[in-house]
Amino acid sequence: MRSYLSSYVAKLFAGDLAAFGAPPTDEALAGHIRAEQVSLVLGYSFGIMLANACNALVLAIALWQSPDWAFALVWAAAVGSAALLFGLQARTSRRIAKPQFVSRRTMYRLVRNALALGTAWGIVPVAFFANASSGAQLVITCLCAGMLAGGAFAFSTIPIAAIAYTAPIFVGTAICLGQEGDYVYLLVAVLVVVYGAVLLRGVFAYSFEFRRRIIAQHDAERTVRQDMLTRLPNRIAFNEALDRALNRLSRSGEEFAVLLLDLDRFKEVNERFGHPAGDEFLVQVAARLQRCTRASEHVARIGRDEFALIMSNLTRPEDALAIAERFVAAFSDPFLIERCEVAGGASIGIVLAPRDGNTSPDLLKHADIALSRAKKTGPGSICFFEADDDKAARDRRALQRDLERAIEADELFLLYQPFLDIQQGRITGFEALLRWQHPERGLIPPTVFIPIAEESGLIHPIGEWVIRRACTMLARWPDQVRIAVNFSAVQFQNVGILQTIVQALTEARVAPDRLEIEITESMLISKYGSAPATLNALLDLGLTVALDDFGTGFSSLTYLRKVPFSRIKIDQSFIRDMLSQPDCAAIVKSVIALAKELEIGVVAEGVETVDQLDYLRQTSCDEVQGYLIGRPMSASEISSMLGRNSSVHAA
Ligand code: C2E
Ligand code: CA
Ligand code: CA
Repeated sequence: MRSYLSSYVAKLFAGDLAAFGAPPTDEALAGHIRAEQVSLVLGYSFGIMLANACNALVLAIALWQSPDWAFALVWAAAVGSAALLFGLQARTSRRIAKPQFVSRRTMYRLVRNALALGTAWGIVPVAFFANASSGAQLVITCLCAGMLAGGAFAFSTIPIAAIAYTAPIFVGTAICLGQEGDYVYLLVAVLVVVYGAVLLRGVFAYSFEFRRRIIAQHDAERTVRQDMLTRLPNRIAFNEALDRALNRLSRSGEEFAVLLLDLDRFKEVNERFGHPAGDEFLVQVAARLQRCTRASEHVARIGRDEFALIMSNLTRPEDALAIAERFVAAFSDPFLIERCEVAGGASIGIVLAPRDGNTSPDLLKHADIALSRAKKTGPGSICFFEADDDKAARDRRALQRDLERAIEADELFLLYQPFLDIQQGRITGFEALLRWQHPERGLIPPTVFIPIAEESGLIHPIGEWVIRRACTMLARWPDQVRIAVNFSAVQFQNVGILQTIVQALTEARVAPDRLEIEITESMLISKYGSAPATLNALLDLGLTVALDDFGTGFSSLTYLRKVPFSRIKIDQSFIRDMLSQPDCAAIVKSVIALAKELEIGVVAEGVETVDQLDYLRQTSCDEVQGYLIGRPMSASEISSMLGRNSSVHAA
């Protein structure tokens, strides 16, 4: 009971309207409301204090002839100078930026000052009314009425302060009027009480309305800065926090770190379980991330599956690393999505300010670069930004710019690497392998520029160019020779590729089954939802499809059932080691046996020695490809090779 009472009194004196029956708020919001109340009062303060000082002066003049003149003078001097002092203080404190939060203690002080001022004016009627001339009595009454109305207006958003200020004046007025004994004065006293009641009612009504408005405004501001799904701060809030951190950096040199976090498995979850489950996954992730941080740090959700944290007041980079490690560890337990256990994972890039930049675009760009290196390093990696990253990124950017005009500049060309049918000893076709002759950097291998083309979308025009070029070659070669073209996962997103293929085949007048598309397993399960649809369309066109680099990816045998591949290509890493490592030999043998069983052709990649070829012949592999049979070669070399095909046959 006592604690309830004391908390009620504390609320009352903190200006909290919950004490007067308004719905309660949390302390943060209450502090924000107090800030608005105080700033409003401070806004009026200077004017009102000036009025106080003038009124004190007026009173001193009115009482000049009264027997109490000496006391009146002392009173007026004290109140007038105190009012001026307060007024000036209020004016300077208003010049400082408006605070977002005001403590209860500040509010107590305000209420106490209101009470002190009210008491000073409450003394006036009690001390001076009886002995004053009737003119001075009129002045006292007017002044008291004016101070009541003005004070109630000034404190209209804080009822407790309004009460603290007006109550002594009411009491003083009532006492002095009552003392007179005259029934007219008694009537005036009753009237004053009625006025007071009306005034306070007005104050309450206004303050409740004020509070409602502040809460609504606060809510609206919060929604703008909050991510609806996870309830975390959103990109807007994050950008503002970053600006504040940069401000503190320039003002007081306070260093900070920005952590950028990207989910490794989000797209997979989304595709496997659908969007609602993806949302549920994000909510669970948000909760775990929040648990890793201190109360003052807020993880923000700044993209679909991207989160960020600003760590302020950073003393050592290790602290940023520690929190990043906590984030990564938070993903060690699987998530429960649609009653399935799903493994999560996150990669994190870290930048330090001012070391890695002191503007928000720089920091964000560098955080992105650090994050992409972390993602490349593997799931669950954490990378700090390094200046070398920036150089590598610039390099890639420059290469991308050059690649943009590589087709027009005729810098791209294809080399062709033969497939040999072991049984017949015949060249059955070629794999088209892309090359880029850079005007300054020389020959650039596809392993360098294909990823850049994929990221930038340049792979689409390049891929189409490869198809057209391959079809032109097919038209020049004998009918029984096929050509295999490598496909990137992103190309499956481009529906236009189908039209290009049809057009190229028709223009070159070659049978569709001579064109083979090589894809890797990762493309089938990958992020690109339309892969199976495009794949089926290719098969419908009559193209053949080979599964490239078999054994290096997920090697899920279900795909062999689902997609009618015409060929499996055993990855070169198995061929290289099969004669020295029994497990590789076992894999090669079983893949060949499996392919035979499923009636799918099988090609061994990367055959470099005669021993390897002999071994593959014994295990009845259909076709081989590799430096032993032929390196990737130019179109003219191919023509002469095909001319010699009969001799190859004999060999
Ligand atoms: P891939 O499809 O696995 O191509 C086989 C790679 O192994 C080629 O490298 C080839 O030159 C190399 N190779 C062939 N025989 C041997 C051998 O006996 N020993 C060794 N050590 N290596 C051998 P390359 O031409 O550098 O191509 C690398 C990768 O670039 C290709 O791997 C393919 O994924 C990609 N690529 C090439 N051309 C294209 C293209 O037009 N489009 C797309 N999307 N990717 C391409
Ligand atoms: Ca290939
Ligand atoms: Ca391959």
